[in-house]
Amino acid sequence: MMMWMYTAIVRPMLTYGSFIWYKEAEKTSFRIKMNKLQRLACVLTTGAMRTTPTAALEIILNLPPLHIFMKMEAKITNYKLSTNENINLKKLTDEYLDQEQTKDEILNLKNSDFMKPKYSFDHSFKVKIPTRQEWALNEGNNNETLKFYTDGSKNENGTGFGIFGTTTISKSLNKLATVYQAEAKAITICAEEIVKEQIQNKKIQIFSDSQAVLKSLTNNKTTSKTIQECILKLQEASQDNDIELVWIPGHEGYEGNEKADELAREGAEKVEDTDMINCHIALNVIKTKVKDWSAKQANKNWNKTFGARHSKQIVTKYSDLRAKNILNLRRNEIQNVLSFMTGHGKFKKHLHNMKLVTSPTCKFCDKEETAEHIMCQCDAYALIRLRTLGKPWCELKDYANLDFDNLRQFCNLASAQMWTPLSNG
Ligand SMILES: [Zn+2]
Repeated sequence: MMMWMYTAIVRPMLTYGSFIWYKEAEKTSFRIKMNKLQRLACVLTTGAMRTTPTAALEIILNLPPLHIFMKMEAKITNYKLSTNENINLKKLTDEYLDQEQTKDEILNLKNSDFMKPKYSFDHSFKVKIPTRQEWALNEGNNNETLKFYTDGSKNENGTGFGIFGTTTISKSLNKLATVYQAEAKAITICAEEIVKEQIQNKKIQIFSDSQAVLKSLTNNKTTSKTIQECILKLQEASQDNDIELVWIPGHEGYEGNEKADELAREGAEKVEDTDMINCHIALNVIKTKVKDWSAKQANKNWNKTFGARHSKQIVTKYSDLRAKNILNLRRNEIQNVLSFMTGHGKFKKHLHNMKLVTSPTCKFCDKEETAEHIMCQCDAYALIRLRTLGKPWCELKDYANLDFDNLRQFCNLASAQMWTPLSNG
């Protein structure tokens, strides 16, 4: 809950307008101040010990340092502003970021699918999204209606779309095209065919299994060039025809949809296709790319952080999943896991350094009680290690690839054993 408040409310407030002052944020004095705030959020969320290094908390909770986060936000804002044809808005763009982005194949603004919002209130085509039950009841009527089935497909090889009707089409799209764009492109090309074939005075139904695309086509505002093209083609085709777009449940055995799906999958395989259609690059692809950039920077930053020797062997990369797993635990479990991941916990050696206990010695042997001693060496914890890691003795780096549930179990069992009083027998 705390972390949600931080990432949804506090961090956006802190970084508001980052586009304007992200360079300022890269200065050391600013970094120190901002890191203090992020640290406070980490500590309040987890109850981590005062001595825990900020960098370790940040990577474990998947919060990139704020100056990196701010540059990421600035890149996205710059991208959106640069694609705007409005002269006044364009003046705001950051020259330095512009240069950085023009060099990049994906971030290059000329290929953007994102555009200044366009408004249209009067569509000459209809969009219908029936329920599954309605589909089950009404299949196969309206024989005088001309029907086209469209579908998009994406796999690791490529992206493609298919159209099945009075004509069949199977085509591939460029590699970065999204499945959403493929679904939209299928409808656009279908409308184009209707115009090309000079079909007139017909009732036409175009089926698509993408509710997302159909809903975008009914919106009055659009910021996607792909959707805008689709709307324009549909308007053109419906000048001489009565066109209705209908949602069809995908992968449920409806014949037309199955055929279109097959054609789309064939299209996705045609990676060498010479008349492949190039889509504009979708804003989501840009956002993913910028996030990857941010993760890379954050990982680099972690590797060159001074200290945190213990955590560095266990945590090597920022991970959204690990952070989610940790934040889903009960508070005392979070503290257990953090103690062992950072080495900053109620370990005798650590408490001794803080002058809180008189002896740094392990309760079971004559060695110093550090997190590493319990995690790797102490005989008294060998059974717990065997149960959770699969071996009785190990090295810190063995915890780096341990699945989260086993890590959690180890931390809980070992904590319990550390705190159970020794019997006098
Ligand atoms: Zn020991």
